[in-house]
Amino acid sequence: MGLIVQKFGGTSVGTIERIQRVADRIISYKKEGHDMVVVVSAMGKSTDVLVDMAKEISANPSEREMDMLLTTGEQVSIALLSMALQQKGYDAVSLTGWQAGIMTESVHGKARIKKLNSERIFRELRSGRVVIVAGFQGISEEGEITTLGRGGSDTTAVALAAGLKADKCEIFTDVSGVFTADPRVVPTAQKLPAISYDEMLELANLGAGVLHPRSVEVAKKHQVKLVVRSSFTAEEGTYVEEVSGMETGRVVSGVAHDDDVVKITVVGMPARVGTLSGLFNTLASNQVNVDIIIQSSYEAAVTNISFTIALGDLPRALKTLESNREQLGFEKIDHEMGLAKVSIVGAGMINNPGVAAEMFRQLAEQDIPIKMVSTSDIKVSCVVPQEFTELAVRTLHTAFGLDTLEEIAIVHGL
Ligand code: ADP
Ligand code: ASP
Ligand code: MG
Repeated sequence: MGLIVQKFGGTSVGTIERIQRVADRIISYKKEGHDMVVVVSAMGKSTDVLVDMAKEISANPSEREMDMLLTTGEQVSIALLSMALQQKGYDAVSLTGWQAGIMTESVHGKARIKKLNSERIFRELRSGRVVIVAGFQGISEEGEITTLGRGGSDTTAVALAAGLKADKCEIFTDVSGVFTADPRVVPTAQKLPAISYDEMLELANLGAGVLHPRSVEVAKKHQVKLVVRSSFTAEEGTYVEEVSGMETGRVVSGVAHDDDVVKITVVGMPARVGTLSGLFNTLASNQVNVDIIIQSSYEAAVTNISFTIALGDLPRALKTLESNREQLGFEKIDHEMGLAKVSIVGAGMINNPGVAAEMFRQLAEQDIPIKMVSTSDIKVSCVVPQEFTELAVRTLHTAFGLDTLEEIAIVHGL
């Protein structure tokens, strides 16, 4: 017996029949005597439908009203799941983010959870109810409804598990765990029995949509026992934990890709101390998230600086740069769309030199041009033209021995 937090994603609650199946699964845990807190996403693709409706009205809708709109999706699924449980004879209550005590920063669209007021949830649990919480939403100090960023229901679940000191957090989704690559892109991708928080965080940040990056951060910080598993089968999932047992023999644990990349080049910046600081502070104070940065020739009087951002930030980035043109002193801005970032991630890279070189060699053999590179202790990322994304991901997956789990152990001596 214990306290278990579960989260069911959009596909898992996509139809009434699936909601009934989720209710049955929760009941099987209740029968074992567990206290259950369940987080759900909006049904199917309903959040996308809401986004499209807003776009029909405005190309640039108010962020506050977007949050007001998008949070309705989760409100539908929590109420239906609670009704399904009640109909099956189990006491349940649905709670919105604010009713569940999820306090966030005062930011719309990508707020971080600051704290959890857990009295209400504990009160409901004490009266024997299954508590169903709307994912992806919270409330700011000013009493405004906020959202945590797309895919943020994972973070709601992990934050609840941390705040309630749950015994386990189970993320139920439409794949049976974390794979060595997106199984929709790489048919030979293998399910990992376990992965470390650090590797998972890199993969999530680099585009592996199976977990919201912030959820992994919170799980690591609070040492939440996290498992990703299928909502449709009883298969064992993937454990996300401090040091994975598999880690020892593995140089690369996974390949991730992100199609949402734009490269901006600021041409003719004065080459002097403070140029980079001026440029990137201006962008940061306008909420433009910058990823890979390259500066060319600092020796000359002027320098060119290239960096990547997400497509969604492009209008804001261009507007910010244009309106600060005089102060920053550049000649012109170019931008290149249609790019993707392909990354390999693995804790074993720390002890294995030559992994980046091998990645470049593999891409070169397939005639894939590399536009930018970025590395850390446990990852190497290459920006490539989008038309090569799948070829690059599959090539690297095979080259680093991920097509079969047996091979993973052998790659050690690469
Ligand atoms: P949910 O609605 O349950 O939150 P998501 O669509 O957000 O589901 O996440 C699950 C999807 O993540 C899978 O269907 C899969 O296509 C994608 N994905 C990307 N990379 C990976 C990976 N490395 N392992 C597993 N799934 C991945
Ligand atoms: N419904 C939200 C989304 O589609 C949150 C989530 O699914 O995690 O992004
Ligand atoms: Mg998700």
